[in-house]
Amino acid sequence: MRETKEKNLILCDNCGVKAAREIKRPQVLGRGAKMIVVDNVPVIACKNCGENYMTSKTMHKLDDIRIKQKKEKSERKIAVAEFA
Ligand SMILES: [Zn+2]
Repeated sequence: MRETKEKNLILCDNCGVKAAREIKRPQVLGRGAKMIVVDNVPVIACKNCGENYMTSKTMHKLDDIRIKQKKEKSERKIAVAEFA
């Protein structure tokens, strides 16, 4: 048996097994001209069921970012926002 170094495993909301961990990755919001990319979004990735999902807290934050982004009329086709 190999001792895992991953002490930060969290309980997966999907399968209920403590095999998930938080990873940071870019998320694409919206589509077309309204599409924005948000960097460093925490995503829960489960090794047991293979599910990748965001917590509701993260979703709310992404909504806020998207609303803010709409207000600032960007000339760019793809706007990039930091998850901060
Ligand atoms: Zn799972």
